Amino acid sequence: MEHYEDIHLEDCPCCGGVGSIEEEGGWCVYVQCVDCGAHTAEFSYKSAEERLEAARKVAANWNMRKVIAPGPGE
Ligand SMILES: [Zn+2]
Repeated sequence: MEHYEDIHLEDCPCCGGVGSIEEEGGWCVYVQCVDCGAHTAEFSYKSAEERLEAARKVAANWNMRKVIAPGPGE
């Protein structure tokens, strides 16, 4: 997985854990907590430029604490 070193992520709003930018299927990105599994909505992209922009958007959502808490059994 490629790192986004210039994108700052705050601690997880749910548990204070570490957020990580994840990619799925080569078409969307989201931020997920490595500890509790809370995550942002996904942003899709179609190109390398859109990919970085999508990563910035999910990071912004994460930093604004706009996350989806992990459901039971997830
Ligand atoms: Zn968490």
